[in-house]
Amino acid sequence: MDFTLSAEQTQIRDTVAEFVDEEVVPRAAEIDETDEFPADLIDEMAELGLMGMPFPMEYGGAGLDYHSYAIGLSEIARGSGGLGTVVAAHTSLAGNMVYAFGDETQKERFLTPLNTGEDIGAFALSEAEAGSDVPAMSTTAEPDGDGFVINGGKLWISNGSVADTVTVFAKTDPDAGRKGISSFVVRPEADDGFIVEGTEEKLGDKGCPTAELRFDDMWVPEGRLIGEPGEGFVQALKTLNGGRITIAARSVGIARAALDAAAEYATEREQFGGPIADFQAIQHKLADMDTKVRAAELLMHEAADLKERDEEFIKEAAQAKLYASEISREVANEGIQIHGGYGYTKDFPAERFYRDAKLSEIYEGTSEVLRNTIAQQLLDE
Ligand SMILES: Cc1cc2nc3c(=O)[nH]c(=O)nc-3n(C[C@H](O)[C@H](O)[C@H](O)COP(=O)(O)OP(=O)(O)OC[C@H]3O[C@@H](n4cnc5c(N)ncnc54)[C@H](O)[C@@H]3O)c2cc1C
Repeated sequence: MDFTLSAEQTQIRDTVAEFVDEEVVPRAAEIDETDEFPADLIDEMAELGLMGMPFPMEYGGAGLDYHSYAIGLSEIARGSGGLGTVVAAHTSLAGNMVYAFGDETQKERFLTPLNTGEDIGAFALSEAEAGSDVPAMSTTAEPDGDGFVINGGKLWISNGSVADTVTVFAKTDPDAGRKGISSFVVRPEADDGFIVEGTEEKLGDKGCPTAELRFDDMWVPEGRLIGEPGEGFVQALKTLNGGRITIAARSVGIARAALDAAAEYATEREQFGGPIADFQAIQHKLADMDTKVRAAELLMHEAADLKERDEEFIKEAAQAKLYASEISREVANEGIQIHGGYGYTKDFPAERFYRDAKLSEIYEGTSEVLRNTIAQQLLDE
């Protein structure tokens, strides 16, 4: 067992960290304030190869292993939680749907521009009445000539209002439950009937637009069906399994930012004639924060390792995401505490880390649903 990063993984981490420190950190408060999609930063990230990190170079990807991808994503989220979601939804969800289940033509046509950053991707699964309960979805896709007509709507779709490629899940056989769900590549620019109803005002995760979408008699050619009819539910679960490793990475990145900021503040802030870092109470907080971040990182890498080796990783990815998201919120909370009253204000980023961290406990499987998954897996073992 070797916990040392390879030379390539170290280089990825250092390159992304440098970019984040120079370009993202100075912009993070502004992104949080304006909630605008930072298209110029995405362009810069695309040039660095950060919009298709885990996919083969033949499709315009960076050809990185999943550890490197998770490290890169974690660094991006250290700078901005919203940017972390932009990249995770674009890559782990939309990109992976086309890479893992699309045919060769779909990969060339839709995955390559996603990986080069020319296109932005989104993954549209959730609906108003179908969040954790995916098969309760009511969006339908009916055969129509040499294509399908899609009707319905989706809620909370990250990148949904700025995406060029959206992987949409719909029922092709409404009586068949989870086996009646299929997935499609939708192109908002070209497909009449794709309507962005609006975007949510959120607690955090600013800069990543979370959109409500409506499909109004939206016709798509049959070449947009991903895989076979009825495979959509299993495709979604497999995609979310991989995605959970990157939400763990996002959580680790935000927690690391909260810890770094708290440690720096503790050495600068003086009370009772010396830095608050001299108090054992503060030292113990920092020690616990660091221990939790490191444990979350190890769970993330364990799940990534299993994925790399093509082994089952459902339980490990769920555990990595569950633990990392919960400690991210706890670490960010302690970060505010160490900042005292200043931590509760917008003068310091501590409160932003807390707001950004919270989201990871909700999307790509809530903590409650992940505990169900983990328990089922361990009882089946
Ligand atoms: C900012 C943001 C971005 C998102 N991005 C996307 C995206 O890009 N694509 C996409 O498809 N979706 C996205 N989502 C949706 C997200 O995945 C769902 O919100 C999530 O799956 C939970 O569904 P829900 O909100 O309907 O909650 P519900 O399913 O209604 O859950 C409500 C509560 O009940 C609990 N609960 C539900 N079922 C169970 C159960 N069986 N056992 C125990 N407890 C249970 C939940 O844990 C939760 O505490 C996003 C959400 C947010 C907030």
